[in-house]
Amino acid sequence: MEFRKLRLSGFKSFVEPAELRIEPGLTGVVGPNGCGKSNLLEAIRWVMGENSPKSMRGGGMEDVIFAGTANRPPRDFAEVQLHAVDSDGEPLDVTRRIERGAGSAYRLNGDDVRAKDVSLILADAATGAHSPALVSQGKIAQVIAAKPTERRMMLEEAAGIAGLHVRRRDAESKLRSTEKNLERLEDLMAGLD
Ligand code: ATP
Repeated sequence: MEFRKLRLSGFKSFVEPAELRIEPGLTGVVGPNGCGKSNLLEAIRWVMGENSPKSMRGGGMEDVIFAGTANRPPRDFAEVQLHAVDSDGEPLDVTRRIERGAGSAYRLNGDDVRAKDVSLILADAATGAHSPALVSQGKIAQVIAAKPTERRMMLEEAAGIAGLHVRRRDAESKLRSTEKNLERLEDLMAGLD
């Protein structure tokens, strides 16, 4: 999967609609302290489904919405769109929008989808909000200090098999409820004999 473009509106310090083209190769973002470099990386993680406000450096998820300044009123919503192409060259557009009091909504190529649909598609392509390819400040120290199980999770994300665990959990829960239904059916059939 290749990221091509990032569009932000009302997200943290990016109050006006902004577009960032991501060219092939290494992309560097430079600028003075506090100009919004980390906010860009956070926007990429957020649109891919990050759901921990703490890792967005906020107290609640609505803190990603532009909070206003001395001479600009706050915004009611934040929206981030990531335009990527998958390994077959097919376009993949993911949009996440959050409105005050209404939570987050996702779209995948224009269709309304669940957060889980977005994370599964991205996990299959070996990327996602926790992809080791997104290296934020302090991340290296975190990898060094990580427990073996946490390191295994990082390797599984990089190998593109993280989505399989989610599907296995879903399949196991379906199996359990089918087994319960079968037991009830057997009881009912025994009652009919
Ligand atoms: P450094 O080089 O110091 O790490 P940086 O370029 O990475 O800085 P960021 O941390 O991305 O900068 O941006 C911080 C700026 O974003 C601060 O000015 C902060 O006020 C602003 N900011 C963060 N959240 C919001 C918000 N919800 N509304 C408005 N501004 C915000």
